[in-house]
Amino acid sequence: MKLGLIGFPVEHSLSPAMHEAALRAAGLEGTYLALETPPAFLRARLQEVRREFAGVNVTVPHKERVLDYLDEISPEARAIGAVNTIVCAQGRLIGHNTDAPGFISGLDEAGISYRNKKALVLGAGGAARAVAYALKKGGAQVAVYNRTQSRAEALCNAMGLRLVTEPLLAAAVQGCDLLINTTSVGLKDPSSSPLPPGLLPRGVVVDIVYNPPTTRLLLEAQQAGLIILGGLPMLVWQGALAFELWTGIKPDVQAMYEAARAGLQSASIS
Ligand code: NAP
Repeated sequence: MKLGLIGFPVEHSLSPAMHEAALRAAGLEGTYLALETPPAFLRARLQEVRREFAGVNVTVPHKERVLDYLDEISPEARAIGAVNTIVCAQGRLIGHNTDAPGFISGLDEAGISYRNKKALVLGAGGAARAVAYALKKGGAQVAVYNRTQSRAEALCNAMGLRLVTEPLLAAAVQGCDLLINTTSVGLKDPSSSPLPPGLLPRGVVVDIVYNPPTTRLLLEAQQAGLIILGGLPMLVWQGALAFELWTGIKPDVQAMYEAARAGLQSASIS
């Protein structure tokens, strides 16, 4: 079974280790390749995928553009406007989004409730769209704040969410039950936070950035006694759900966690 990841760059991705661990644990023969794909080569890469692969993941910067090249798109991926998983079936390319249910599986696994809760999403990029969609579908009241207000406005209009503008950010943070950072602030930078110092919500803080495992936002929230969750569960669960779409088998999620943690550790050493 030939699987892979289309993105640019992909060299530091944890997905090959995670999926090869899942293949081994399931007793399946196969490989998962990191397919470095500059934007100009996306169409050609998808032709190769159609011919040779059982499925692929899609990452930055192709999650949105790839929709133009697929034969079928799941209703969920269509509503989110992004595809992170492609299944190849009889030469047809079918697009799915497992980021959204993967995020929810991470919350469920940690026992974090969201139904009827006030959720504030920081960010309005591809990941924010998946997270906001998933939370709304799960029954949360979702508000969105983003540095570039026009992007947050577009997301709120498309999904029927509440827009938070800059002057109302502090009140929205203090009034929410669940705050989710989906911006890239904090990525490989333990000194940056998407919120001003001292501003925190009252309940739970989730940061979908997984490198470092504990971002500055999470550290401050933990020190304030809040419940925190990092980005690793979403990463592992979006992968587990993709694996199930490709193989029809529920993977060994613990093997995927172990492989991802080992990959993160060696990335922080090198
Ligand atoms: P994206 O589409 O490029 O969006 C980036 C977002 O970050 C935008 O809202 C952007 O705001 C905001 N941002 C960037 N720099 C900022 C700054 N200095 N101050 C304030 N806001 C800033 O990226 P994405 O695909 O949504 O990914 C976002 C993050 O989520 C990345 O760190 C990625 O690694 C992580 N992620 C994690 C998982 C997982 O499985 N755990 C899955 C997907 C993504 P503007 O609109 O103002 O530019």
